[in-house]
Amino acid sequence: MLPPSGTIGIVGGGQLGRMSAVAAARLGYRAHILTEEVDGPAAQVSAGITIGGYDDPAALRAFAAAVDVITFEFENVSAEGLNLLAALKPVHPSPLILGISQDRVAEKTFLNANGAATAPWAEVSDHASLDAGIARLGLPAILKTTRLGYDGRGQARVTTRAEAEAAFASLEPKPLVLEGLVDFACEISVVVARGADGQMTSFDPVENRHAHGILDLTFAPARIPDETAARATALGRQVAEALGLVGLLAVEMFVDRDGTLRVNEIAPRPHNSGHWTIDACPASQFEMHIRAVAGLPLPPAARHSDAVMKNLIGPDDMALWPEVVATPGLIPHLYGKAEARPGRKMGHVTRLFPLGSLPGPFGIAAALGGLAPAEGCEAPDERP
Ligand code: AMP
Repeated sequence: MLPPSGTIGIVGGGQLGRMSAVAAARLGYRAHILTEEVDGPAAQVSAGITIGGYDDPAALRAFAAAVDVITFEFENVSAEGLNLLAALKPVHPSPLILGISQDRVAEKTFLNANGAATAPWAEVSDHASLDAGIARLGLPAILKTTRLGYDGRGQARVTTRAEAEAAFASLEPKPLVLEGLVDFACEISVVVARGADGQMTSFDPVENRHAHGILDLTFAPARIPDETAARATALGRQVAEALGLVGLLAVEMFVDRDGTLRVNEIAPRPHNSGHWTIDACPASQFEMHIRAVAGLPLPPAARHSDAVMKNLIGPDDMALWPEVVATPGLIPHLYGKAEARPGRKMGHVTRLFPLGSLPGPFGIAAALGGLAPAEGCEAPDERP
């Protein structure tokens, strides 16, 4: 167990690092950030900072020397960088787990081998494998980079062979993955925390709505049958167990119209769909993350309230900031980013509801005021 006043090293300087650093501080720890950005979201609230590239050996060594234990808010560190860190200080989750989550082929292979269904998929490295993939999966489909994609970047929905050829030519780096298009009823995620002793706890599944490939809204709990929620929880825990996780894992899933669950992606770190836990749970996902990494016991991932979380994305949502901070009941969070570029996650708001009383679509929309989505907040089975 890391004693109070120990230093937790966090690789990555964005909002996930910021909220992890605040959780660490509440537990009496110091957060030390490895980042390329001097005044980024995490550095602004942390006790220490090492400025440098995530694959720069000198920066990695200086960072490791300043901390007791290392974790991540950002996954795209090279295998060499991870191995260098792991040779110097304990790293949680392990470099092996990061390696799996960094690569869609490794991820899907691991998931399928461990009993988790995914969208049907094929690895595509050349024209012959593209043809074979289309022949097996059909069109429309989605072509994705295997590495370095996020927030809907590095992927293209293709409906014709010509579109598939054009996407294949433009998406980098290769190889790519071709995925069959899943006609899902909704998207959900399960956030699981697991300690070094194998103790596990998980937040109830939440429902996620995306806009332009970026998470926009999270409903906690997901508006799905209890039986589906129980299977999703079991699946999330099964994946965490199979990985031998120490830390936090978000498991994103599609819920098919027949209730089948398919894992879309895993992220071994705090996740945007868990931000609501800061306001609705005695111990947030960020506290669970820090506890697991520091070797503290994990309390039950229970919530005292239901919640809706809305991301504040780019200049359009930020134009509503004066209204947000003036609206009683909207709990505001900003990440300290100077410039509201389109598509950039600037902050989020949470609205709490008494446990068991997440309102219907109109109640939710009314509670979000100007931030309510134009297309409404229907539950999956209420859609036309
Ligand atoms: P990803 O980057 O893989 O998380 O994909 C971003 C979003 O694209 C997902 O949250 C889904 O809304 C959509 N998407 C990704 N893959 C598929 C698929 N195979 N079928 C249908 N929708 C998908």
